Amino acid sequence: MTNKQQIITIDGPSGVGKSSVSRNLAAELGYVYLDTGAMYRAVALYFVRQQVAVDDEKQIAPGLTGIHLTLEPAASMEDDVGVFLNGDDVSEAIRTPELSMAASKISALPAVRSYLTAMQRTLAGKGKVIAEGRDMGTVVFPLAQHKFFLEADPRERCRRRVRQLKDKGVDVDEQEILSMILKRDNDDSTRALAPLKKAEDAYTIDTTSLSLDQVCSLILERIVNTARQG
Ligand code: C5P
Repeated sequence: MTNKQQIITIDGPSGVGKSSVSRNLAAELGYVYLDTGAMYRAVALYFVRQQVAVDDEKQIAPGLTGIHLTLEPAASMEDDVGVFLNGDDVSEAIRTPELSMAASKISALPAVRSYLTAMQRTLAGKGKVIAEGRDMGTVVFPLAQHKFFLEADPRERCRRRVRQLKDKGVDVDEQEILSMILKRDNDDSTRALAPLKKAEDAYTIDTTSLSLDQVCSLILERIVNTARQG
């Protein structure tokens, strides 16, 4: 990567609104939405189904060659991206709280990170991509044109996650979800490789008291202003 690619990165902790914001912006700008969390979730599901412990790198590193992962655009603005694992539609199966924790654990393994980082760069090869995750602006696309880091109060993030899960018919305990969010954020931001971190040149938005439309407008405004100055 020598010049700045047409890539917008959106990083931040869980439940901060990254997916909804990315999906909306992608539709508005005609960009492709790259949900990298879904990729970590699918890899975790693959090994959970094989009854391999998600921190067993000795088994996981060689096992990655057995994975064939494809992503398809969401059917509607309310849906998540379509995720296919060796031809099997796992779009729903990867969204449980247990899979969130398993994805976080497996994402700390160097073999998994380099496997998915390479895949993410390939998928974004043609540009015009909104890439959402934890290390998009710092590690995967350090030369991205526009970088954003979203944050929000953990209680509000928990409320949003509970609402999302309830909408999907998953019965959840709010306190348990809050502890899972806090544990996952802590693990994601303290791991040695590609931790959850704001890129130095990312623009931070606190979404605690903002609506989805307000966050999208702030981002679009910033993109237009930066383009004018550049
Ligand atoms: O964003 P989402 O909650 O779907 O991500 C699931 C997990 O995948 C995160 O908690 C994180 O551990 C991992 N992840 C990551 N790097 C990314 C995206 C997700 O480590 N770029």
